Amino acid sequence: MSNKYETLFTPVKIGPVTAPNRFFQVPHCTGMGHLRPKADAATRAIKAEGGWGVVSTQETEIHPSSDLTPYPEQRIWDERDIPALRLVTDSVHKHGSLAAIELAHNGNHAINQLTRAPILGVNEMSADILSPRQARQMDKSDIKNLRYWHRMAARRAKEAGFDIVYAYAGHHMTLAHQFLLPNVNDRMDEYGGKLENRVRLIKELIEETKEEVGDKCAVAFRFAVDEVKGADGMQAREEGRAVVEMLAELPDLWDVNVSDWSNDSVTSRFEPNEGYQTSYIDFVKSVTSKPVVAVGRFTSPDLMASLVNKGIVDFIGAARPSIADPFLPMKIKEGRFEDIRECIGCNICVASDNLAIPIRCTQNPTMGEEWRRGWHPEKIQRKGSEESALVVGSGPAGLECAMQLERRGYKVTLAEANEEYGGRVLSESRLKGLNAWRRVADYRIRYLQQSANVDLFLDSRLTAENVLELGVKNVFLATGSKWRSDGVGRSNRKTLRVQPAKNIFTPDDIMGGALPKSAQLVIYDDDQIYLGGVLADHLSDLGFDIVFVTPANNVSPWCENTLEQHRIQRSLINKNIDLKFGYVISEISEDRVEFECNYTGKKLDVTTQSVLLVTERHREISLYEDLMKLVSEKDSQKFFLKLVGDAAAPGLIADAVFDGHLAARNFERDDGEVEKEFYNREIISLK
Ligand code: ADP
Ligand code: SF4
Repeated sequence: MSNKYETLFTPVKIGPVTAPNRFFQVPHCTGMGHLRPKADAATRAIKAEGGWGVVSTQETEIHPSSDLTPYPEQRIWDERDIPALRLVTDSVHKHGSLAAIELAHNGNHAINQLTRAPILGVNEMSADILSPRQARQMDKSDIKNLRYWHRMAARRAKEAGFDIVYAYAGHHMTLAHQFLLPNVNDRMDEYGGKLENRVRLIKELIEETKEEVGDKCAVAFRFAVDEVKGADGMQAREEGRAVVEMLAELPDLWDVNVSDWSNDSVTSRFEPNEGYQTSYIDFVKSVTSKPVVAVGRFTSPDLMASLVNKGIVDFIGAARPSIADPFLPMKIKEGRFEDIRECIGCNICVASDNLAIPIRCTQNPTMGEEWRRGWHPEKIQRKGSEESALVVGSGPAGLECAMQLERRGYKVTLAEANEEYGGRVLSESRLKGLNAWRRVADYRIRYLQQSANVDLFLDSRLTAENVLELGVKNVFLATGSKWRSDGVGRSNRKTLRVQPAKNIFTPDDIMGGALPKSAQLVIYDDDQIYLGGVLADHLSDLGFDIVFVTPANNVSPWCENTLEQHRIQRSLINKNIDLKFGYVISEISEDRVEFECNYTGKKLDVTTQSVLLVTERHREISLYEDLMKLVSEKDSQKFFLKLVGDAAAPGLIADAVFDGHLAARNFERDDGEVEKEFYNREIISLK
C-alpha cells in the first residue's frame, strides 16, 4: 500500500469499540430488511469482506407505531427480531468489522398500514406519505413511551450483537428530526419553541441509549446539519451548528449529512461533484472531539485521504460507493485503483427501495444477489469445457458479458459495429447531466483492453455469414434496441397517421447527432421513465423552443423513484418549456401534431415542423434471426446462440448489465441448477 493512503487504514476508537479502519458503510436500505433476513445479512457480509470497517443496517423500526409496510426496512419491535439481526452481526463480525444499527421511530413518515396503530407526530399533521390518515400530536405520555421504546430497542440491539447503536435525526424521516426542525415543530411545551426545547427529545434519546448500552456499544448520532432550504430551514452555519455545539461530547460518534433524502443522495445528474456535502459538514470536527463520519459519493482515494489528513472527517462514509463496489477499501489497500467500480450516481439502488424490492445497482450486478444466486462481486466460477466465445455489441450488456466470460477463463472476441465501444451508455452519457454514466463503459473497456485473452474489434458490423465464417460456436448477441418512430407506446397501441414529409425524430437520431432544422420542437414522452426529460433539458440548452407533451400527469414520473422528479420538472419549468400533461398523440401532419386528452378525448393541436417521439423500443434482432435461418436444425445443437441485454428485453442500463452478467455466469451451467436459483426465495416459517 502506498503511504499516501495509510491513514485510511488506521484503527479509530469509537466510545468503547474500535473500528479497524476508516471505511464506514453508513445506514442504507436494501429492500430486503426484515422480509428477507438471509439475503440482507449476505449483502452486509460482502461489505465487511470487502474491507468496510463499519457496516450498518438500514433504518430499523423500533415499535409497531413506526411500521413502514410495505417497505421492508429493518425491524426490532421485540425479542423475536433478534435472531434475524444476529445473522447480520455474525456475518459482519466474521470479517473483523463492526456492526451498526440505525434505530428509528418514523413518526408521521410511518403510516402503520400493517399495524393500524395511530400515527404519531410532533404536531397535529398530515402524514408524510399520501394517506387519508393524519398524525396526532404526541402528548407527554407518548413521548415517555417513545423514550422507553427506544431504550428497549437499544437493549435488544446490544443483545443481537451490535457494536454501534444509532439515534437518528435525519432525512426528515424520524420523530427525533422533526422535533428539531423549526419549520415543522410548532409545539408550545418544553419540547417546542426555542432550540434548547426542540433538542430535548434527541438529547434524552442519546443519553438513555448510552445509559442502556454504553458500557459495550458506541452510541452514534446521525444528524442532518442542513435542510438545503436556505433561510426556510435549518442551516449548517446557524442552528445546525448550534445543535452540534449543544450535544458535542454526548454521542460517541457524529454521522453528519444534509436532508432530505433527495439532497443527501442527490444524483450525479443534478450534483456531479464528489464530496458535495463537505461545505455543509466541515465545521463539525472543530466543535466536537468525537469521531465524525460524512458522505458525498466518495470514490477517489486521494480525496478520501485528504479529507482525513485535513481533519475534516475521521471516517469516509459511503452508501452508494459501497454498493457499486463492496471491495473498494480492499482495492485501495492493495493499490488496485483501476479495479474500483465507481458509483455513477444514477440512484437505481435508491429506486429499488422506493419500489420495495431487493436492491439493484447499475455498476454492480451482483448487488442483492449474494444470497439468492450466491453471487460474489469478485469471484466467479471457472469455465467449463468450451474454449471461446463471440460477443456481438459493446453496449452495457455486451461489455459486461465479455468481461465476465473472460474472468471465467474463456477466450473472448468482441465485435462492435460503431467506431467506439459503449453502445447506449456512450450515447446517453453525452446528454446533459449524464456524463458520469460513462463509467459503466469505461470500467469494462479498460478491463477488456488489458486482457491478453480478449480480441476487440471496432467498426465491425457482423452479418450472419461473418459470424459463421469466424467459426466460433458460442455466440452472445448484445445488439441492443432502437427507439420506435411510429408513435406506438404505452398509451397508444396504434401506428400513427403520419404525412410523409414529416420531420420525425427518435432519441437514437438525436443521440446520433441528427438535430431538427426547425427552432420549434414537440417532444412526446410516452416512455415516462427518464430519457424524455433528459432530452428536453438537453435540447432546450441547444436553443430549441420546446413543447413537451406526455400522457402522464407530470414530467418523467418514474424518476420519483430516483428522487429526481421534482428537480427535473423544476428545471423544465425554469427553461420555459411548455408542459402539457394528460395528452396522447393521435396524428402528425405537415406542420402540426394532434393530441387527444387522456380523460375527455378533447383535441389539442400544436403547430410545429419537428417532433421527437420518446415512446418504446424495438429489439435489434435481425442478426439473430438471420443466424437462426442459416444454422440448420442439425448444426444448432452444436451452436450456442443467446440474446442478451436490450436485444433480449429492453430496459434500464442496470438491466442490460445484469443480463450480460447473468448470461456469462450461466454459460455452460446445468439448466436445472440455473432454474433452481430462479425460484430461490425466503419462505416464511409456518411453525
Ligand atoms: P445493450 O444495452 O443491450 O448493451 P446497446 O444498444 O447499448 O445494447 O448496445 C448494442 C450495441 O451493439 C451497439 O453499440 C451496436 O452498435 C452494436 N451492434 C448492433 N448490431 C451489431 C452487429 N451486427 N455487429 C456488431 N455490433 C452490433
Ligand atoms: Fe451508484 Fe447507481 Fe449503483 Fe446506486 S445504482 S450505487 S447510484 S451506480
